Formats: sequence, C-alpha cells, structure tokens
Amino acid sequence: MKKRIAVLPGDGIGPEIVAGAMKILQTIETLYRHQFEITYADIGGCATDKTGTPLPNETITICKNSDAILLGAVGGPKWDSLPVEKRPEQGLLKIRKELNLFANIRPTTCYESLAASSPLKEDIIAGVDLIVVRELTGGIYFGKPSERRLIDGKPGAVDTLQYENEEIERVVEKAFEIAKTRSKKVTSVDKANVLETSRVWREIASQVAEKYPDVILEHMLVDNAAMQLVRNPKQFDVIVTENMFGDILSDEASVLTGSLGMLASSSLSAGGPYLYEPIHGSAPDIAGENIANPLATILSVSMMLRLSFQMENEATIIEEAVNNVLNKGFRTRDILAPNCTIVSTTEMVEEVEKEIRQLV
Ligand code: ATP
Ligand code: MG
Repeated sequence: MKKRIAVLPGDGIGPEIVAGAMKILQTIETLYRHQFEITYADIGGCATDKTGTPLPNETITICKNSDAILLGAVGGPKWDSLPVEKRPEQGLLKIRKELNLFANIRPTTCYESLAASSPLKEDIIAGVDLIVVRELTGGIYFGKPSERRLIDGKPGAVDTLQYENEEIERVVEKAFEIAKTRSKKVTSVDKANVLETSRVWREIASQVAEKYPDVILEHMLVDNAAMQLVRNPKQFDVIVTENMFGDILSDEASVLTGSLGMLASSSLSAGGPYLYEPIHGSAPDIAGENIANPLATILSVSMMLRLSFQMENEATIIEEAVNNVLNKGFRTRDILAPNCTIVSTTEMVEEVEKEIRQLV
C-alpha cells in the first residue's frame, strides 16, 4: 500500500540533509518495491518569506493527510529580528501542537568507531544503545501560571507541575510499545520520594506494565538516573520520563554518542502521523556548503520506516549501512578523526547508498 510522506526541508542545512535522506528513502523504495508518495511543504523561515507565516495552513493540511512527516531544521539569523509569530521556531512549536505530538523519542546509539569523540571513557560508552522517551506536551513547562513573581506578598515565583493520569498513561504505553521491539526493558524515571505527580507516574507505569508481560519495568529516581547514565549507560534500554526530567536526561544522553550530527528523533501522537527530525538545528554557519552530516536525518528516515511503517528490515539495513560506512572511515567534518576520509554531504549519502545496495 502507498505510504504518504510529508517532507518539510525547512531552512539552513535542512534542504541539503533532507535531499540526502530522500535519496536513501528512494533507494529503499526501489530495492524493496515500496510505494512512497512524497509531498513537499514549507515550514520555518522559508515559509515566512514566501507566505508571511512560518506554518502555512497548506502545510498543516499536507501533514495531517500524510502517514508520516520528515522535517529538516528551521531557523537562522536572517529571521531573528522578526515579530515572534513570524519566527521559524514558532512553525515547529505550532506543528507539534496541531498534531498533538506528546511523546518525543530520542535514541542514543554509540557507534564504536565514534567512541573516541565522546568525553566519556570508551569502555563505558561502547555498545550503548538506549532510547529516551520524553513526555512533550505536559508537566511543569505547561503548568498553570499562578502569581509568578509574588508569594504571600513577598517576591518569588511559582511553577506548577501537573499531570492527568491519561497523559502519563499514553506516553508510558508508547515506551512499552517501543521496548517490545527491542531488549524489552523500560526504566521509568521519576522523583517519587518527593513529588506526588511522580508517585502517580510510578503507579500508572506499573499498571501499564501489566499489559506487557514480556517487558521488564524498573523504576529509578531521576537523580540516580542522571548518575547512572554516565556511570553505566549500558544498563538502559528504554527510559520513559516526564517532560522536564526528559529534557535534561536526553541532552545528557546525547553526549554519549559524540556528535549532534548523528542523532535522530521522532515525535509521536495517539493516532499519527508521527514527525521525524534530526535533533540538531539548521546550522546556518555551514549551510549551502555541502559539508553537513546527513546521518542524523538518514537515521530519522530509518526511525520512520520502523515506527510508522513497521518496516523493521529496511530500518535495520539503513542503520547497518551507516555503521559500516563509519567503520570504513568515511567522515563529515563534525565527526572527523585521524586517518579518516573526509567526505561531503552528498558523498556520505552515496557511501550509505552503496552500502545498502550491498546489504540487501
Ligand atoms: P537550534 O536552536 O535550531 O537547535 P543550535 O543553536 O542548537 O540550533 P545547530 O544548528 O544545531 O545550533 O548547530 C550547532 C553547531 O553544530 C553548529 O556549529 C553547526 O554547524 C553544527 N552542526 C549542527 N548540525 C550539524 C550537522 N548535521 N553536520 C555538521 N555540523 C552540524
Ligand atoms: Mg539546539
């Protein structure tokens, strides 16, 4: 059956890395005889330039009518002085809201060949393969504002942390669904010794776990999790946690891989479509030079194939191809190491493509 994919290249290096990822998607389409129906749409600064808004209605419609969305990156200094509603980042926030993307998934895979680029010891990070599932539309970042700068007449501030049971349940369920396809372990991270929301989080996580007898659930306090992530990251498979804890832990986890240019992400909703994007930004400093690392976007395509289309083989082939290309020593500038071959964006894409053709 035809899969409809909305493609939003965006700004800066967005169009270059998305073009590379689309080449890989087309290779998979041909080799596995799939049918992908691609519709391009504008988001971010380029959309503001064309239409006066960073998220035109047409883009929202195209996204809602698709089975999955691939996004490059948005933003750049060119649009920094515009009024807030015209800025590129607003486009991104708005599309997340429009599509109710409540679970943000960030896999952290440590490629052995890149281990030297991490500040952590090689034996600690080699073989790390974990996913942080972060609740994205609730928690303290969305708490009701009370008298933010005044407490009982004294200067101060209040933020409220709140979760409805349903908001916890749906994100924990996502984590279990993902764990089912992996090593089958979920670590639910909370602060249940102090916070009521965390106690509820823990209860609901345990209830959800009953529906997944093959998946092991463990609970961990967030302070301990922060330490364990750099002390012994290999113990983790899927980490699920609330918005702010996830924000902090997923940034911490990204250090394990060595480079921003390697990390993919997906944002999930209840019924789809899901949105896939590299975690890095639009890198305006290197835009248009054909030197950006396309691997994070290529790995985002791999996530799309696995999560949105259940194409497990195809997803794994892309990941293996990326791994092999790195092992052969091909590097874009951001992951450069001694005795490696520097390649451009397009050359890196060609190497991955060659590798896929050999693997299939
Ligand atoms: P945003 O606010 O959109 O997340 P940012 O300020 O975090 O953006 P990025 O655009 O992610 O910044 O870039 C940070 C640095 O990493 C820049 O020097 C950029 O050139 C580099 N960089 C980001 N992505 C890549 C990539 N795919 N390949 C090579 N270098 C990259
Ligand atoms: Mg950033």
